[in-house]
Amino acid sequence: MFREYKTNAVVCQGNLSRGEDLLKGLTAVLNKKNITCGCITGIGAVTQARIAYFNHAQKRYEELFLQQGMEILSLTGNISQKDGVIFPHIHVVLSGSDFKAIGGHLLDETLVYAFEYEILQFEGTPFVRKFDDDTGLFLWKE
Ligand code: ZN
Repeated sequence: MFREYKTNAVVCQGNLSRGEDLLKGLTAVLNKKNITCGCITGIGAVTQARIAYFNHAQKRYEELFLQQGMEILSLTGNISQKDGVIFPHIHVVLSGSDFKAIGGHLLDETLVYAFEYEILQFEGTPFVRKFDDDTGLFLWKE
């Protein structure tokens, strides 16, 4: 699938507070501003993280809970719709005191120590996620 969008030239920039749930906090910003289509970037730090890896053979997510303070080296994601609601799909690259990168699909229960983000909003019809039998993932279908 491929669509061209015009940006509305508004880039939101903001931060989340210490202790906030990273995924829920970003979702709340999108809902508050009614941003249904676009992309997200961010950097910061977390006090704990829950991330996932999609096992292709078993077609299910394996989760990893990291109970330590870590840098968010990179957070990137896209914004579309799933089941009639705004759905941010976000991946993170984190590092701890060993300076080694670890990352995955962002889940809730990832708690902010400090976080700064940019959201670029697109004008137009957002993609809608539907279950894809071939991959076992919710992919852009319309
Ligand atoms: Zn993902």
